[in-house]
Amino acid sequence: MSKAVNNMSMGIVEPQQRMKHLTQYGNLIEVDKNMQITRYYRSGTEMLRMANVYQNEGNHENAFILYMRYMTLFIEKIRQHPDYGSIKADVKAITKRIKDEILPTTEKLRAKLLSHYQREYEQFLASKEAERVRELQREQANRQAAAAAAANAIPSLIPANLHVQIDANNQPTAPDLSLLDQVVYPNDFPTGANRTNLPSSGLLLPNAAAADAATNDKTANAASKPAFDRNQKPQYSRADSLLAGSLRTVNVPGDTMEVFLKLAYNNTSKNIETCGVLAGHLAHNELNITHIITPQQSGTPDSCNTMHEEEIFDVQDQLQLVTLGWIHTHPTQTAFLSSVDLHTHCSYQIMMPEAIAIVCAPKYNTTGFFILTPHYGLEYIAQCRETGFHPHPNDPPLFMDAQHIKVDAQSKIKVIDLRR
Ligand SMILES: [Zn+2]
Ligand SMILES: [Zn+2]
Repeated sequence: MSKAVNNMSMGIVEPQQRMKHLTQYGNLIEVDKNMQITRYYRSGTEMLRMANVYQNEGNHENAFILYMRYMTLFIEKIRQHPDYGSIKADVKAITKRIKDEILPTTEKLRAKLLSHYQREYEQFLASKEAERVRELQREQANRQAAAAAAANAIPSLIPANLHVQIDANNQPTAPDLSLLDQVVYPNDFPTGANRTNLPSSGLLLPNAAAADAATNDKTANAASKPAFDRNQKPQYSRADSLLAGSLRTVNVPGDTMEVFLKLAYNNTSKNIETCGVLAGHLAHNELNITHIITPQQSGTPDSCNTMHEEEIFDVQDQLQLVTLGWIHTHPTQTAFLSSVDLHTHCSYQIMMPEAIAIVCAPKYNTTGFFILTPHYGLEYIAQCRETGFHPHPNDPPLFMDAQHIKVDAQSKIKVIDLRR
């Protein structure tokens, strides 16, 4: 779904169109009737938390998308949930907040983005025109060089009209030496090496420059390619945008597994699983895990249930944390996601596409960092109505190693232990 919209964004340069596309992207939120309604309620809180971070960091596109999603969720989509009645009072309070704060903020962002898109569009048109003029000059020079070659002029690169003119009376006249300035040498043609010097790159904003340096490398090999291909449409920090559709990096403190295994030690020695919530914050478009929150829980050798989730939420609200996944032990088994784990993880990943499941298998001294495959497993498990342990087909794969994590040896995890 998001992929189709993403493809549609390719080549959009007109400001109103870009705004429309961004708004559509902000509307992209669906409510799964089988998911607990409190999950959406929580997810909304975290959406605002992240929107505020983006807003403060000046990432207006992402802030706009998240505010739009928040409004779409609470003004429209959540009403379709069968348990809507149970949070009606909360939604009423949210609706008031939307009217008083969020909507005015979003409208200000919309105006800012539109004028930004307008500026980019004007730069785009100006450099497109400059490129057109250069193209004409290049063609003219090529024609002159070709004509000179055809006339067997020496040296062949001197323009055709440089050779000695014969006037009507067959009297030779002196060559016009100023024409020498028009001699075109092969090195004057724009090639990959000097392409980056073309003024066309001036349309890119500083924070998009890095992303587009890579683009320039790619186009460098195709010297004949026009400077204005779709990769060079105006960009508003594309690499940082939720519009890019790629998963943001999740940074995991290097001692997370060791610390968690210590917390779990008593259970593990009794062959009982332990679980914890991974939480943290957004900064510069990366998600940093900072805390393990171990809730009250009841474990068995192959499962673990959290109890009193509201205590987790209280802690997260106090510390302004967002949910970034969960961690659990497999006391005697290897690191993988069981069918029950897949369903547990599904509700994390639906709310936060980057959410990870860390599985610690102390007996095998291994750790797995997993996600449901985004284009198959997530949807498959969301549709699966079975509960308890049950078989799933495993081809195509339902889960995979998370590719978007970075284990940071320098940072340390903090623990909030809510177990009694
Ligand atoms: Zn498990
Ligand atoms: Zn299932």
